[in-house]
Amino acid sequence: MSQILKQKRQVAINPARLCAPIGAIMGAMGVHGAISIVHGSQGCATYPRHQMARHFREPIEVATTSLTERTTVYGGRENLLEAIKNVYTRCHPSMIVVMSTCLSETIGDDIPGIILDFEELNPDVEVPIISVKTPSYVGTHITGLDNFLTEIVTRLPEKGEANDKLNIIPGWVSPGDIREIKAMLRKMEVAPLFLTDYSDPLDGGVYLQKPPHPKGGTSVEELIDSANSTGVIALQRQVGGKAAETLGKRFEMPSEILPMPIGVENTDRFLQTVSEMTGKSVSEELEDERARLLDAIVDAHMFMTGLKVAVFGDPDNVSGLVRLCAEMGLEPRYALTSFDSEEWGIELLGVAEEMNMDLEILVKSDLHELHEKIKEDPVDILIGNSKGKFIAEKEGIPLVRTGFPIEDRFGYQRMAVVGYRGGINLVGEIVNSYLDNGTKGGKDVVSNTLLESLEAEDAGSR
Ligand code: SF4
Repeated sequence: MSQILKQKRQVAINPARLCAPIGAIMGAMGVHGAISIVHGSQGCATYPRHQMARHFREPIEVATTSLTERTTVYGGRENLLEAIKNVYTRCHPSMIVVMSTCLSETIGDDIPGIILDFEELNPDVEVPIISVKTPSYVGTHITGLDNFLTEIVTRLPEKGEANDKLNIIPGWVSPGDIREIKAMLRKMEVAPLFLTDYSDPLDGGVYLQKPPHPKGGTSVEELIDSANSTGVIALQRQVGGKAAETLGKRFEMPSEILPMPIGVENTDRFLQTVSEMTGKSVSEELEDERARLLDAIVDAHMFMTGLKVAVFGDPDNVSGLVRLCAEMGLEPRYALTSFDSEEWGIELLGVAEEMNMDLEILVKSDLHELHEKIKEDPVDILIGNSKGKFIAEKEGIPLVRTGFPIEDRFGYQRMAVVGYRGGINLVGEIVNSYLDNGTKGGKDVVSNTLLESLEAEDAGSR
């Protein structure tokens, strides 16, 4: 029987989480020309930049107020005023996003107040200056992005003439995922407005003349115009769900918070919702993609049926992956997130009961906990980000890499897992990781599975 467990240990060992400013920086990178200022010590800007650059393989430009012992004692007001001025005059941004850190929150700097002072002192500065609360002792990296999105929809949208766009809040996905969502909407002739679109800034090209700001991203004008769209869909409850509700309430537009469109059922729900909101029908091309995903799942069954799997990562990703695994005939045994949300656990429990799983849901937990569980009751496959490689190596099981960060492999920021085509990618990754592990001298079940299926085929043809 499935159950929810919350880690009681006060110390985290091998945490599956990152620090909150990373999320706000990621959201800001989705706004064309926006510049982030991290109000804290230098490390609070260096760590997110380092972590993001290793995953996205792109330069991540972030300013810092560089607090020292003196400013820690007396407050960082002067540093922040100077940083905003410098960023404005040197970088010509379209928007400035100031994010707090553990340090600036603990010393009690009033960032919104300092921004108001700056605006009074510099009335000629006309770009929006947004403040986002991102102390890392409250929540995780996804909290940072969620807070950023809530702040954006509270501050920027303005009622005007209706447009025929559909607001999409993708949450924490990859640039490849955003491109796949765009492709699906194009096939339905729906024009999206992304809050925010970090696909090109975080997966850009090489240009002989470097543009002053990374190409792509949602413009500030589009964010203002998001008040006039047909509706809003959030693709993750924990990242952007609040923003979708806020936008819906403020501008009386239909809003939906959906499960992340990973796998057949969740992608069906996404496309049906788009169709209902816009009146556009699901195209034949998308129906063909669906049929190919179903075919991939059917083909994968002979390798996957009955194998146990553990999934960890960000809550909405984990829920989507657990459902896809069940659709493939795998038996999800553990689902772990470091995020603290009982609501998420209860929702996933509902999925587990609906699909008859024996699933342990670990909330606010760490990878040490997951490893201990796997030692007691082993699994055949582990799915999550690069942080799971130590468990995979010790236990001799394959790690299917997905989520953030993936720093020990190349190009995963371009891989889509959403939509039918993303589902096909994932099914291939899961099956091939398992087959590959078997041939490397892991468990000998692969050869047995193949042998049995070949024997069955032989018997059928005789
Ligand atoms: S002090 Fe806090 S905000 Fe700064 S890097 Fe560490 S966890 Fe992140």
